[in-house]
Amino acid sequence: MSKKIIIVGAGPGGLTSGMLLSHKGYDVHIFEKKNYIGGRNGRIQLGEFSFDIGPTFLMLPEILEEVFQKSDRKLEDYLDLKEIEPLYRLRFHGKQDFYPSRDKKYMHEQIKSLFPGDEDSYEQFLKKESIKFNAIIDCLKVPYGKIINMARPQLLKAMPSLNLGKSLYDRLSDYFKHEELRIAMTFQSKYLGMSPWQCPAAFTILSYIEHSRGIFHPIGGLNKISEAMGKVIEENGGKIYFSTAVKELIVDNKTAKGIVLENGETIYADHVIINADFAHAMTNIVKKEHRKKYTDEDLDRRDYSCSTFMLYLGLNKKFDIPHHNIIFANDYNQNVTEIAEKKILSKDPSIYIQNPSIIDHTLAPSDKSALYILVPVANNSSNIDWDKEKDDFRNLIFDKIEEKTELKNLRDNIEVEKIITPKDWESEYHVYKGATFNLSHKLFQMLYFRPHNQFEEFKNCYLVGGGTHPGSGLPTIYESGRISANLIMGLR
Ligand SMILES: Cc1cc2nc3c(=O)[nH]c(=O)nc-3n(C[C@H](O)[C@H](O)[C@H](O)COP(=O)(O)OP(=O)(O)OC[C@H]3O[C@@H](n4cnc5c(N)ncnc54)[C@H](O)[C@@H]3O)c2cc1C
Repeated sequence: MSKKIIIVGAGPGGLTSGMLLSHKGYDVHIFEKKNYIGGRNGRIQLGEFSFDIGPTFLMLPEILEEVFQKSDRKLEDYLDLKEIEPLYRLRFHGKQDFYPSRDKKYMHEQIKSLFPGDEDSYEQFLKKESIKFNAIIDCLKVPYGKIINMARPQLLKAMPSLNLGKSLYDRLSDYFKHEELRIAMTFQSKYLGMSPWQCPAAFTILSYIEHSRGIFHPIGGLNKISEAMGKVIEENGGKIYFSTAVKELIVDNKTAKGIVLENGETIYADHVIINADFAHAMTNIVKKEHRKKYTDEDLDRRDYSCSTFMLYLGLNKKFDIPHHNIIFANDYNQNVTEIAEKKILSKDPSIYIQNPSIIDHTLAPSDKSALYILVPVANNSSNIDWDKEKDDFRNLIFDKIEEKTELKNLRDNIEVEKIITPKDWESEYHVYKGATFNLSHKLFQMLYFRPHNQFEEFKNCYLVGGGTHPGSGLPTIYESGRISANLIMGLR
């Protein structure tokens, strides 16, 4: 008889393991608290407007392609991926806009005109970071469940290029003289919810990946990836139960045996995979008596990413701005310090605006726009009272957008609107401390020091998702799902 697998949560990590295991004949059962697929990579539908809840940038689609290939599927049969070129529009106070691009000639011209003297450094960046990327990428495909794994040949080979002890900003400053160009190449640490001045230099690979391999948008939004994965699981005979919350993990004799659902039902399995946000799952579904390492106090002490304030706007007008736009605070360093260290609301925040309906006509009627606005803010370890601040902060964001972009009178064009605050991330989306990008990616929370894929507290339990190795971000989350599935299949 095939082995039974329970997966707690239908986010990208759980769906990856579910695809790979159901393809190999395992009896996969995914229990999802919400009534939709994908977790933070799900969809919000507001009337005739459709939005991604979280991820809007797909990087390294080849990892997703591999997951589909391993399931004997072709990604292109399920998704229509479009490359976004130029990558995005970056707007700095009082400066001409910068459009980073994979077109080397265009990049050379732009850098020459906007950041004179840094053109050759850009070539150097691409060359040197390609060596680093090739060294690091293999380290992200294997588990680090034992301290001895830190001596894996892949990691030892990558070690010299990790620039240990340096921050992302310091490392990129070795290449570039101009402050705005340094920010343009380091702001990607925000994808991990970290400050470029604190994020380890190893993450220079993020901007390298974008500049060398591009960023992609599946038609219908990134939530279509989750839908496609769910489809494959069901084609393979796996089951996904929506609106079915897991209340408790059954642990007996230091072994995970199954789950108890909120409705009281008990279900046993050979292995349990936890995809729910790691610290949320520990503090909500794993009883204290089964946790020696990850006690409530230990989890509280750990370092977490920032949070995000979200606005999803259905607008009665077609807005002609690029797909991805980042409007930096006039003083970016101050803004980042306010988020990461002071944990207060910035009066001049940086703002990301996605206008996907410019290339994707499935998201809004042809004469309208679906706009996604993300503002990085402190996580809930701050003292910010979101019930009190929400409306004022929303108005500040509109004021800044109207002041700094061509989106004038935006408020007058709103047909439908939804807001997610850090408080909502925690209470409605089950994200510990509302830290949308999970445990931070400081070195002491990476590799062996991140919660292990084969969970260390008891047997037959595996972790997937942004809170485990290799970390937050879709490509690494897919790798976490693949690593845990391989461990269950005895492939490593
Ligand atoms: C605003 C935002 C923007 C992002 N942008 C990007 C981006 O552009 N590119 C990128 O690569 N990454 C991005 N990310 C990061 C990351 O890719 C996503 O957060 C991703 O969805 C995380 O996947 P996950 O597998 O960890 O699980 P999650 O998406 O967190 O899914 C976990 C699931 O578990 C369920 N669950 C929780 N508790 C229970 C329970 N008790 N019982 C049953 N189910 C439960 C939840 O409802 C959820 O569906 C972004 C994240 C956010 C929040």
